[in-house]
Amino acid sequence: MVVQTQRDDVTWYKCEECGLMFDDKEDARAHESDCDGEEPSYIQ
Ligand SMILES: [Zn+2]
Repeated sequence: MVVQTQRDDVTWYKCEECGLMFDDKEDARAHESDCDGEEPSYIQ
């Protein structure tokens, strides 16, 4: 899930699964759709 967060008067969008931050909501959503952060049990 993407959460909105405010830092230094800038709105960021954070992927809750892996913690990545994006300054663009569409980028965050695109990332979220193929983020595997919830299942980190594959090849490291
Ligand atoms: Zn992610």
